[in-house]
Amino acid sequence: MKLLLLLFCVSIYSQTVLYFDGNNAMNYLNQQCDLGPRYPGSSGHTKAIQVYKKHFEKYSDDVMLFDDYVIHPHSLDSIQLTNIFSRLNPEINNRILLMAHFDTREIADKDLNQDNQKKPILGANDGASGIAVLMEMVRFLNQNPLSNLGVDFLLTDGEDMGKPGDADSWALGAKVFSDRIPSPLPFAAICVDMVGDTELTLPIERHSYMQAPQLVLDIWKLAQELGYAQFQMELGRAIIDDHTAFYNKTGIPSIDIIDFDYPNKNINYWHTLEDTPDKCSAQSLEAVGTVLINYLYRLDLGMNE
Ligand SMILES: [Zn+2]
Repeated sequence: MKLLLLLFCVSIYSQTVLYFDGNNAMNYLNQQCDLGPRYPGSSGHTKAIQVYKKHFEKYSDDVMLFDDYVIHPHSLDSIQLTNIFSRLNPEINNRILLMAHFDTREIADKDLNQDNQKKPILGANDGASGIAVLMEMVRFLNQNPLSNLGVDFLLTDGEDMGKPGDADSWALGAKVFSDRIPSPLPFAAICVDMVGDTELTLPIERHSYMQAPQLVLDIWKLAQELGYAQFQMELGRAIIDDHTAFYNKTGIPSIDIIDFDYPNKNINYWHTLEDTPDKCSAQSLEAVGTVLINYLYRLDLGMNE
């Protein structure tokens, strides 16, 4: 009976594509930006942690907050970071981790207007977009539970405090969390960062391909199959992000889904005051979210093996 049911599900599934609600995700993006800048030490940061805690407590099986102190790369003061870790099906050993950073950059140091360069960014794309995808994913997975796969959600802090040219000063939250990650460990990790850009283009990030080539190919091929041309089957640049920090510490294959050309190769909103919700779209969040939920359901049914 069990086998029969499984076969029935597979045959139904082969004709079914699950759709992720990009409008819900866009609402989550706006909700975060309404809190203002969310760099460590800011009031928006404190409020955001409470929003995430409440949301993941509602839709997941458990939520843990990990507090750590790190040296702020710019001020050299000790500052508290809070990584948020949440799980679905915590008892299942076969599991995958999804992560995004929630902190926003304290200084708009790439802004062309010098008067703006010491002001904090809003981080609609660089911060809120990846978390918005995770927030809608956990809600969706709560309504449509997986049977054989466990999912970890890691909302990292302190990703965006770094100094240009100093690779070690970025992804501080992912680094400290990697030393404390609870068992059972995931077999792979997928990071989403800067995925809300209205002009979304997602070439393959180079470290991802080095660290986890099969995972990259599985995701990008699925995106093509589902018709999301934003995922481009070509190698892009190499980007230091939470996935490199996580991989270096844990050895777990880790990739990054990221659009660094924000909005395109000619204009730059990254680390400027222009990183606002009007530069992001529900359609872009839907593309990334839909690829990821379909990937998870295929894993759950053993279709990726
Ligand atoms: Zn950033």
